[in-house]
Amino acid sequence: SRAAAHVDKGGVHHVVPLPAGDRRFAGRRVDVSALRHVLEVDVERRRCVAEPGVTFADLLNATLPHGLAPAVVPELEGITVGGAVVGCAIESTSFRYGGFHDTCLDYEIVTGTGEVLTCSPEREPLLFGMIHGSYGTLGILTKLSFGLIPAKTSVQVEYHRYTNGDAFHEALLARCADATVDFIDGIVHAAQRWGGITMILASSGRSQNSSASHFRVPHRSRTLA
Ligand SMILES: Cc1cc2nc3c(=O)[nH]c(=O)nc-3n(C[C@H](O)[C@H](O)[C@H](O)COP(=O)(O)OP(=O)(O)OC[C@H]3O[C@@H](n4cnc5c(N)ncnc54)[C@H](O)[C@@H]3O)c2cc1C
Repeated sequence: SRAAAHVDKGGVHHVVPLPAGDRRFAGRRVDVSALRHVLEVDVERRRCVAEPGVTFADLLNATLPHGLAPAVVPELEGITVGGAVVGCAIESTSFRYGGFHDTCLDYEIVTGTGEVLTCSPEREPLLFGMIHGSYGTLGILTKLSFGLIPAKTSVQVEYHRYTNGDAFHEALLARCADATVDFIDGIVHAAQRWGGITMILASSGRSQNSSASHFRVPHRSRTLA
């Protein structure tokens, strides 16, 4: 078959269109579905080593009991750490940390010729810099390590409404520069309806700000079947 081999990591996929009707999935399958383990949570150094098929739900279940979390957590809990690197995932902390791949320290890659390479900013830096957004074209990611940040038990959420883009952008830039803000989301509902959501990690208790909502972060998140 002339069709290219494709990565089958099992579980939920977030590529569009989905595997069943997409000719990109017609070639040989490279089955990496067994690679779904958190290998190490180094609490002291705030680092984690994991296989690429670990979902963010399972990753958080492993790190939150230590009061730690990945710096960038994509919204959908079935997204895997490998898919987040190779597919270039971002989220509402990315204004500060970049993509999930920007928090990565090294990757283990199996190339098309079967070579096993470890790359990092110091070792094979060109390869390290090209893996994110490569969609499986450069090799199979088989292991990665990445940094963790302190997690707290609650988030304080504020929703702000704006009637035009200029006011929205001005507020957005101010929030990005505000060191107390941990998460930022923006939603454009219509030309006159712009919404900005800011969230601040909080230890516990209710906020002093009466316009803010306060949510406790569940320590065990639901895992997709
Ligand atoms: C409804 C929806 C909502 C989304 N929400 C967000 C969001 O909130 N934030 C965000 O940043 N992104 C979001 N995305 C995009 C998502 O982050 C990317 O599509 C991500 O790549 C999905 O990862 P996955 O684990 O599901 O991998 P898959 O969808 O299975 O694979 C993604 C790509 O990575 C390759 N790949 C997977 N594992 C490996 C591996 N081990 N080695 C080599 N290549 C591999 C696959 O071949 C494929 O090209 C969303 C996508 C959808 C469809």
